[in-house]
Amino acid sequence: MALSNEAKKRLSAGLDAGDFALDKDTRLCYAYDATRREAMPDIVVFASSIEQVAFVMKVANETGTPVYPRGGGSGLTGGSIPLKGGIVLTLERMNQILQIDENNFSVTAQAGIKLETLRDEVKKRGLFFPPDPSSGKIAALGGVLAECAGGLNVLKYGPISNYVLRLKAVLPSGEVITVGSHAPKSVTGYDLKHLLIGSEGTLAVIVEATLSLLVYPQYQQSFCAFFSSLQVALEGANRILRAGFRPRSLEFIDSHSFECIRSYKPLSLPEGTEAALLVEEDGHDEEEVSRQVHQIASVVHQESLEIHLARTPEEREQIWSLRKSISPALYSLAKYKINEDICVPRGRIVEAISGAYDIGEEVGLRTVIFGHTGDGNLHVNFMTDVDQDPKAEEAVQKLMKMVVSLGGTLSGEHGIGITKSPYLGYELSPAEIELQKNLKAVFDPNGVLNPGKIFKET
Ligand SMILES: Cc1cc2nc3c(=O)[nH]c(=O)nc-3n(C[C@H](O)[C@H](O)[C@H](O)COP(=O)(O)OP(=O)(O)OC[C@H]3O[C@@H](n4cnc5c(N)ncnc54)[C@H](O)[C@@H]3O)c2cc1C
Repeated sequence: MALSNEAKKRLSAGLDAGDFALDKDTRLCYAYDATRREAMPDIVVFASSIEQVAFVMKVANETGTPVYPRGGGSGLTGGSIPLKGGIVLTLERMNQILQIDENNFSVTAQAGIKLETLRDEVKKRGLFFPPDPSSGKIAALGGVLAECAGGLNVLKYGPISNYVLRLKAVLPSGEVITVGSHAPKSVTGYDLKHLLIGSEGTLAVIVEATLSLLVYPQYQQSFCAFFSSLQVALEGANRILRAGFRPRSLEFIDSHSFECIRSYKPLSLPEGTEAALLVEEDGHDEEEVSRQVHQIASVVHQESLEIHLARTPEEREQIWSLRKSISPALYSLAKYKINEDICVPRGRIVEAISGAYDIGEEVGLRTVIFGHTGDGNLHVNFMTDVDQDPKAEEAVQKLMKMVVSLGGTLSGEHGIGITKSPYLGYELSPAEIELQKNLKAVFDPNGVLNPGKIFKET
């Protein structure tokens, strides 16, 4: 057991009975994330204030107890799994918006708030927080920041790191730091704010964030273009970008995804459909949005089999429900999906996709690919009925090697966690890994915060 008697005694004495749980049932609920891997914590602490987070970190640091920060547990790389037992520190009770500052276009919120709640609350004031991972109903702000999560809006609006003004975080020592400021930009000293974003809960526990906002774009319009081959669809996406458009979303779906969706719900497609592009544009002027969408559609019109333009909010919802139903529909193919979120330069997307299919065929696994073609971020899914399938491991290993050879990266938005840590050395040199480990040691000299993540232990 990673929780020593001393640590347990100090935590029990310093927290109210309702602030922690030692029973097996509760601990089990915090043992896993969306990877379906699990490890039991010894204790779950439900922090409700920065002081409590600081107290837990201080006790953990002084007693050498592992601490695993947790948001919504929707991570896809095992980041919040308590690999070594010890403490799961959940921030779900720290879920308040502290201030919406309409003058300065910003919101300050506690890290445990669900992302969708935050987006809905600012929308009520006519404001917009663009980052929108599909897991927004479950994922917490702290988890989304810790993963630097993406989603459908990145092409036009950029990653979440563009919207962070200031972070409050608790160091493993228990000290509270504030990085960044309320000003729109800052170059004072090293950029610790951006170091914490995407650090996967290994450097500090994020407890509060001030985020910049935009005016809510009231009008959105979407279309779905169907193509006779993936190649033609991807060439179409390139032409859209080369024509100077940066739509809010530019997604592609392959023919295997359609097969899965069809087995999940009725779907009528134009004859010969092998791929589709889903496009959405938004803005503040209805006519301008409509004009832009028609112009974008005209770029791919000639090569497409058909274009479905959404004329009502319901039709728009139908188009995006296609995209959203792929993930659950994949399970109609096999029991397990090994979902990778590789990212390659836009000009190498076609090679990356055909390489991924080839790998699937070589190892004998069905491969389904869809993703954010606008940002080169591809969701490659190897499907298998075998838990911890060695064939899937072989496929992922080959995929990661190929991605790096194309000048890409292991993860565009899900992070490294435990599932990708074996491949870190494919992308980072030994010197870079050493530098990163040294950085980790500066923040966390006793190695108590989220141990076992990012860097594979030998
Ligand atoms: C159905 C589904 C759809 C998804 N869609 C997307 C998508 O479109 N785009 C995308 O990028 N990802 C997506 N994801 C992945 C996942 O939802 C995101 O990575 C999300 O950011 C995780 O947030 P969470 O609060 O659930 O974090 P958790 O799973 O709880 O934790 C993730 C990591 O963050 C750390 N962490 C959590 N809270 C804190 C904190 N307060 N301080 C420091 N570290 C912390 C944890 O230790 C862990 O390392 C999806 C997942 C699912 C299941």
